[in-house]
Amino acid sequence: MELTGLHVLLTYQCNLECDHCFVWSHNWQKGTLTISQLDEILDQAQQVPSIRSVFFEGGEPFLYYALLKHGVERAKEMGYTVGIVSNAYWATSEADAVQWLKPLAGKIDSLSVSSDLYHWNEELAEHAETARAAAEELGINIGVIAIAQPEVVSAESVVGTLPDGGSRIMFRGRAAEKLAAKVQKYPAAQFTTCPHEKLASPSRVHVDPLGYLHVCQGISMGNLFAEPLKTICDRYDPEGHPVIGPLIAGGPVELADRYGVGELQDGYADACELCYRTRTVLRDQYPAELAPDQMYGA
Ligand code: SF4
Repeated sequence: MELTGLHVLLTYQCNLECDHCFVWSHNWQKGTLTISQLDEILDQAQQVPSIRSVFFEGGEPFLYYALLKHGVERAKEMGYTVGIVSNAYWATSEADAVQWLKPLAGKIDSLSVSSDLYHWNEELAEHAETARAAAEELGINIGVIAIAQPEVVSAESVVGTLPDGGSRIMFRGRAAEKLAAKVQKYPAAQFTTCPHEKLASPSRVHVDPLGYLHVCQGISMGNLFAEPLKTICDRYDPEGHPVIGPLIAGGPVELADRYGVGELQDGYADACELCYRTRTVLRDQYPAELAPDQMYGA
């Protein structure tokens, strides 16, 4: 595998509790990196020369501003392309947003903020526009992420094509529990591939505050606090992984069949819902690979 991007979840905490979130973040969620742990992760990233970009996300990374700022500065010094993903809760006015962003200007290459009604309410959605104005004032490259409403999820999008104007919901994590019931269901048999992740050779992965390295949220390749990132990458054996192997061989339906999980319900909103629901059943069997609890709302 050639890893080019590392996404660091600074915290599982978030000031919001969005229905479409697949990380089960909320105000009291456990799991936040310390600065020394973040340094250790960035040091480990240096041992994998193919990594060129580091993104900081969460949860909501601006909740731990000193940690975020430290990570941004360190990653930039190391020569990475640096990005942040945020819900822009801090953009209460353009003047305030400028103050939040000024220490990061010249150090981040991109800022992605959420703008949709799933991010709590219209007032907060407006924060994205305020953040955009502040970022443009400071010369920060900003993008806005919008999640399509469930009604927009079409049969076409279920198999991996995005509707125009936004990202579609992926029905895993909280989104599977809160939103999947609102959309059309499809037979499990059609979900024979993973439509979103390059499982056999991932180019970007997520590391969480507990050290887990996720090829997709809740599917761990290893733990950076137990084994170095480089070793995990060098030893990565996707076909031999008890969860990733079946997903590569035949998608979520193969994962369910391989372990005799069977049909858990009449149909599924998308491949991710089938994958996620099957994995929740398999967690006792594969606790190290299907971790941590924060990815499963446990
Ligand atoms: S939840 Fe499963 S099917 Fe969906 S992107 Fe992740 S690995 Fe692929």
